Amino acid sequence: MEYYSKQISNLISELSTLPGIGAKSAQRLAFHLLNMPEADVEKLSTSMIEARRNIHYCKNCFTLTDQEICPICSDAKRNKKLIMVVEDTRDLAAYEKTGKFDGVYHVLHGAISPMNGIGPADIKLKELMVRLQGDVDEVIIATNSSMEGETTAMYISKLIKPTGIKVTRIASGVPVGGDLEYIDEVTLLRALEGRTEL
Ligand code: ZN
Repeated sequence: MEYYSKQISNLISELSTLPGIGAKSAQRLAFHLLNMPEADVEKLSTSMIEARRNIHYCKNCFTLTDQEICPICSDAKRNKKLIMVVEDTRDLAAYEKTGKFDGVYHVLHGAISPMNGIGPADIKLKELMVRLQGDVDEVIIATNSSMEGETTAMYISKLIKPTGIKVTRIASGVPVGGDLEYIDEVTLLRALEGRTEL
């Protein structure tokens, strides 16, 4: 990429570190940015920096939020005794889009994957067990139907069983390996309604 000036090359190489952005897309984005009004580029970079700086985990459910306690956890109308466990905030958003779940969530930020060296201590599992010391009726495990998601579901159910709290798993109508966020709302609702006790 020596035929570009150093700053353009830098921009391209920074952009290409983003997921799903190959060398070609990075070039296209870089030249698009260079053609944008400076004020718009500034708005874009400010929104990235501010989001990165101000977004953190909800103290309760560990979803990403700019508040101490996220809007879902602080909503008095949500059923705090019903906790749905998801792998990440995008999965939470997918269920929220259905508008039919009135419980609360617990975001693990990953799944157990021995192959990738991710163990139970690397996800927000301990934090879930702390929450379960409160008054909880049911934990719905809505991890992905990938091998990691299933391993995580089994592990969590074994942990929770001795507490006597009901543990359910969303129905597998969800394609194997499919990220929850890409599944349509009807499928998600069916998976939720068809959940079975573990
Ligand atoms: Zn929360």
